[in-house]
Amino acid sequence: MAGKVPITVAKGDGIGPEIMDATMHILMSAGAQIEPEYIEVGEKVYRQGITTGIPPEAWESLRRTQVFLKAPITTPQGGGYKSLNVTTRKALGLYANVRPCVAYDPFIETKYPGMDVIIIRENEEDLYAGIEYQQTPQVVQALKLISWPGSEKIIRFAFEYARMYGRKKVTCFTKDNILKMSDGLFHKIFDQVAQEYPDIESEHWIVDIGMAKLADTPQQFDVVVMPNLYGDVGSDIAAQIAGSVGIAGSANIGDQCAMFEAIHGSAPRRAGQNLANPSGLLHGAIMMLNHIGQPEVAERIYNAWLRTLEDGIFTYDIAKGKPSVGTREFAQAVVDRLGKLPQTREPVSYTRGSGGPSSPAQLRERTRPRFIQNPRRELQGVDVFVYDDRSSVQELGQKLEKLAGPEFTFVMLSNRGVKVYPDGFPETFCSDQWRCRFEAPEGAGPVSHEAIRNLLGRIESAGIEWIKLENLYNFDGERAYSLDQGQ
Ligand code: NAD
Repeated sequence: MAGKVPITVAKGDGIGPEIMDATMHILMSAGAQIEPEYIEVGEKVYRQGITTGIPPEAWESLRRTQVFLKAPITTPQGGGYKSLNVTTRKALGLYANVRPCVAYDPFIETKYPGMDVIIIRENEEDLYAGIEYQQTPQVVQALKLISWPGSEKIIRFAFEYARMYGRKKVTCFTKDNILKMSDGLFHKIFDQVAQEYPDIESEHWIVDIGMAKLADTPQQFDVVVMPNLYGDVGSDIAAQIAGSVGIAGSANIGDQCAMFEAIHGSAPRRAGQNLANPSGLLHGAIMMLNHIGQPEVAERIYNAWLRTLEDGIFTYDIAKGKPSVGTREFAQAVVDRLGKLPQTREPVSYTRGSGGPSSPAQLRERTRPRFIQNPRRELQGVDVFVYDDRSSVQELGQKLEKLAGPEFTFVMLSNRGVKVYPDGFPETFCSDQWRCRFEAPEGAGPVSHEAIRNLLGRIESAGIEWIKLENLYNFDGERAYSLDQGQ
């Protein structure tokens, strides 16, 4: 094995220091070739007035080692504090959130014996870009951003993950029956990438029925990849039904850096009592060992941990009334079993079959987006959003229709995505935010930005307040904007 790998370690708040000490004891006893570099992040740092909870010297260490093992931290109550996790993910480009949701039957009771699902959540895009606006008194909006390269990267990552860990199937959840363009892009890329992995089965479910199936028969799933919002919901559902919320770990992987942690919080009420279960953080650390190319150590620890449970040694949260041990004693029990395998459950192997996890450099290359094309873009028209809380649909529609001028054809007026003029239904509820679509007249070719500026001038002169624009493009001759219901 090459030299020791420097890693950045944060002991966190609440139960964090105890479970980190226990985890490091197991890692070091198992022969992990790591050189921990401790940083202070979290509550103390927030209280010093650093709103992200991360001081400059911590960033320096993180960017140098590129590997972060983090115990849970306490976010102080009250406004003004930014989530340390979100800040770290965004700043370090950790695009993939990996959460194994495993049932540990027969050692730990579960409704779903045999459940072993990996949820892979896109971590940077979707509604989590957090771009929101209010432009009229009645309507608030959020932008859902799905990029081609962002989707391709996470989907390639999911298939690579399946290959690295000998998994058989990758499932994708989207809502592309409604979000035909954004979720449609994610689904399309999924289908394209799947063709490059003929050894792995692939399937797609609409997210509502997919989630229901996941909650009902999780044994049907293997690896599931989702855009950010669905992944957020799906990963909590899967962890909860596996019964492993307190013992599950999670990885956040980027091209350069990666962060590993438990999925639970800092459980302040249990702090300092030698009670907490270190298993969640230990599972995060096992994922870290795979990531830094030490899969033999990772599987030695995992198997010793399984053997510990098999021998009936539990912390209070798992014991459920049976005798339990403390954090330190549990960690020592795992150390005492290093080199042993579970007898009643299949031991874990990361090195069998596919040859084990890729190095970060290999993974970076294998997940590199390749599909990006250079389509011909043509400006075909514009959707002008206007604010009006006084006019009737007919009045507003007729006024706007007259303003199309020579450069545009008036197409329709819509409200909350439903066409209301011409030929709308009087039953349709209308808010104070309207969208008016103007397109280039049939056969007239692309429109110019100048034509749009002139149109806005006419709208302003007519006393109508426009609040935003969305340009309408064709890509390689294909319409690249949605039609409204009724259009
Ligand atoms: P929590 O996960 O800390 O606790 C929920 C319940 O689970 C509590 O009953 C707790 O005692 C128990 N529990 C959690 N981990 C345990 C363990 N390892 N062993 C035994 N029992 C355990 O969630 P919470 O109470 O909602 O949050 C507490 C604090 O943690 C908050 O400040 C929150 O912001 C923070 N938090 C941090 C992270 C993180 O750093 N990744 C994640 C979630 C919550």
